Amino acid sequence: MSQAPSTPMSAAPASHPLPSYLQANNLGPWGVYLQQVDRVTPYLGNLSRWVETLKRPKRSLIVDVPIHLDNGTVAHFEGYRVQHNVSRGPGKGGVRFHQDVTLSEVMALSAWMSIKNAAVNVPYGGAKGGIRVDPKTLSRGELERMTRRYTSEIGIIIGPNKDIPAPDVNTDEQIMAWMMDTYSMNQGSTATGVVTGKPVDLGGSLGRREATGRGVFTVGAEAAKHIGMDISTARVAVQGFGNVGGIAGKLFAEAGARVVAVQDHAGTIYREAGLDVPSLLRHVAHTGSVVGFAQAEAIANDLFWEVDCDILIPAALEQQINAGNAGRIKARMIIEGANGPTTPEADDILHDRNVLVLPDVIANAGGVTVSYFEWVQDFSSFFWDEAEINARLVRIMREAFAGIWQVAQDNKVSLRTATFIVACKRILHTRELRGLYP
Ligand code: GLU
Repeated sequence: MSQAPSTPMSAAPASHPLPSYLQANNLGPWGVYLQQVDRVTPYLGNLSRWVETLKRPKRSLIVDVPIHLDNGTVAHFEGYRVQHNVSRGPGKGGVRFHQDVTLSEVMALSAWMSIKNAAVNVPYGGAKGGIRVDPKTLSRGELERMTRRYTSEIGIIIGPNKDIPAPDVNTDEQIMAWMMDTYSMNQGSTATGVVTGKPVDLGGSLGRREATGRGVFTVGAEAAKHIGMDISTARVAVQGFGNVGGIAGKLFAEAGARVVAVQDHAGTIYREAGLDVPSLLRHVAHTGSVVGFAQAEAIANDLFWEVDCDILIPAALEQQINAGNAGRIKARMIIEGANGPTTPEADDILHDRNVLVLPDVIANAGGVTVSYFEWVQDFSSFFWDEAEINARLVRIMREAFAGIWQVAQDNKVSLRTATFIVACKRILHTRELRGLYP
């Protein structure tokens, strides 16, 4: 295993101990990704001579995003767009607005997009963007101005054939509409294909909003068959109840499962008999969080990890499952709705404890799969109905997962390493075919 960079952290005040995932020896997301590449390298055969390609993002852009605040002052935010790899096609990946966004986080997220896109075999490389900002502190006007200025700044590297952003943490259809409009204004013509995850009335795709959650459910249901788990009696715990966790929870509940615990940025709720997911979703839409939901008890955030459940779905941020809590998890199966929620140390602990981890790079690939459908529909200006979109999504996810399952069995490796084997071979094969320029 090669050396990965560590993230220097200042000591935390005694009254506020840092969670283990933020401590000084923490690798950070990019370090985690480098370890994952090291783990897969022995399985790449001759293609391993190109592996260094995967350890170096092709192009990283840092931009200053100045905007007028409503109070008349000017604020500056730092924005990023990283194109990790474009061997298989244009860059593709979301944009997140979060106060903890850093260049190294965006690098890791862009790399995971390369792996994910290759794992489901959509013709894209990997990219990701973000702004270090807490969007909850901005008015709607400020949010729009920031989004537009950021889009304009990264406009030199994005485009329908170059790099196609999409929603991610704290970004949604409206943000995509502003991005599309800004890019189009600068180009002088409407270019719907420059972003995906747009409103349906603006070249968006039916089923896109639910796609990541639907993919999480689809892959979970496939894996359950392999391990003899009955979804209709399973107990499910979900971290993050937005676009991904909320929809996945809803689909599991519709299949008969009991969603017993949900945690979000504001707190954790629990109900042994199972939460009423549709009314919880309405509560979240109304209040912004799961906290205060009447038909549930509030529990301490840390207890979420030891809740009695069969399936755990982390669908929030990175490094949530770490050496500090992996030993306490009761679930038999973890479906990674979030990107990078499990550290390599936790991966090993879970493996030793026989917990099956369905890795992000396949489990949450439903979103970008329907993004691909959206992009194709925009190019052809011919739009499909939702049944067709969902059927195609489920087919792609099932086929990709079946192939990965087989590779895991054949090589006696985890599903994460198996997904990396499939994806890295695809990426490096095109790398080799294209050859080195000049
Ligand atoms: N942000 C999503 C992801 O992490 C979707 C990316 C996309 O649709 O391009 O997979």
